[in-house]
Amino acid sequence: MRKLIIIKYGELTTKKGNINLFINTLSKNIKAYLNEYSYEEKHDAGRMFIIPEDNDYDEILDILKHVFGLHEINLGYETKTKDLDSLGNEILELLKDKDFATFKVQTKRSDKTYPINSMDISRKMGGIILKNIPNLKVDVNNPEIIVNIEIRKDFSYFYFDVIDGLGGYPVGVAGKGLLMLSGGIDSPVAGYMAIKRGVKLEAVYFESPPHTSDQAKDKVLKLAKKLALYNNTYLKVHVINFTPIQEAILKNIPHEYLITIMRRMMYRISKRIALMENCKILVNGESIGQVASQTLNSMSVINHVVDIPVIRPVACLDKLEIIDIAKKIDTYETSILPFIDCCTIFVPDHPVINPELSKCEEYETLIPYEDMIKDAIKNKEVIKVELKEQNNHSDLL
Ligand code: ATP
Ligand code: MG
Repeated sequence: MRKLIIIKYGELTTKKGNINLFINTLSKNIKAYLNEYSYEEKHDAGRMFIIPEDNDYDEILDILKHVFGLHEINLGYETKTKDLDSLGNEILELLKDKDFATFKVQTKRSDKTYPINSMDISRKMGGIILKNIPNLKVDVNNPEIIVNIEIRKDFSYFYFDVIDGLGGYPVGVAGKGLLMLSGGIDSPVAGYMAIKRGVKLEAVYFESPPHTSDQAKDKVLKLAKKLALYNNTYLKVHVINFTPIQEAILKNIPHEYLITIMRRMMYRISKRIALMENCKILVNGESIGQVASQTLNSMSVINHVVDIPVIRPVACLDKLEIIDIAKKIDTYETSILPFIDCCTIFVPDHPVINPELSKCEEYETLIPYEDMIKDAIKNKEVIKVELKEQNNHSDLL
């Protein structure tokens, strides 16, 4: 008998044609997360097994809880025996240290040549347990312990505790996306939701020094690190110095259109970075109706400058729903730190709610934005934010 971690894929298994891509990606991702650990990996019909070489099961289980694409991660025991009595002895050996009064047995038999069906295996194993441990009762509805057994072709295994995985798809199976990451509450949540669907993210952050501070940037890098936990251990952040463009907008554009045009510039730059980095989509934290630039009219006029899909995972969530997720993924406390963002420095008193495309286009002729965009991209700073810090951002730990 040996201890092992059993991984169930859940939703992955519905992707018949792509199943190998999914499992290979998952396996590679797990390797990235567990790169400091030695372990054996084994595959058997619809399951992956991780067998740590040292006794670091708990640490590894904790890490796997943050890996997308895992439906369940169970700590169990593998045995070569498929004989019910000897299997029963091994199960009893482990059960005797547990304190419980009710239980049930649940069996799956992927080896269909095994002579006894699942129901009967459960029933027999229930009998063995009742006979050997005094004062136990079977409770099929609400048992304190579930003895899960799977009979496979070359071995069987069993486990008692079910640990929920994060679900979703393995990061990267969907390709890459570029997250517009600000210091607010919404964009980290949007990023998390995109990663959940298998999108590997890079991020772009617009800063406007000296109007925005280094602390605002550090805050964004801190959020990036929180996302790195889900994004296969790192997040590459492209930092754009937006000051010249923003100052030109402020100087030349009628104030009610400041935000609309600023956001059109952000979109233009983001799209170009996306193409350079092979990202197929933009992802942002816009939410319908939240502010003037997020009315349907505003979104439409802003979206007009790009021809790649813009995914807005939180578009239809209420702020309170977004905050709930932010708390769950531990970005909330960082997001509410009070550092000014480039979107908030030059907010006009009356931003336009129904901007007109023709006016945007007319006003934009007042600034040489093509050259400014090229410069901004040429001068961008790229920071690879890693879960395990190897660079000089030790302050983010
Ligand atoms: P909040 O949670 O306060 O609403 P926010 O980040 O959502 O913060 P918004 O002004 O609503 O701020 O911006 C909408 C979206 O635009 C953000 O979710 C983000 O995706 C993108 N964005 C805004 N500012 C920046 C920035 N400085 N850099 C990169 N993306 C930004
Ligand atoms: Mg917002």
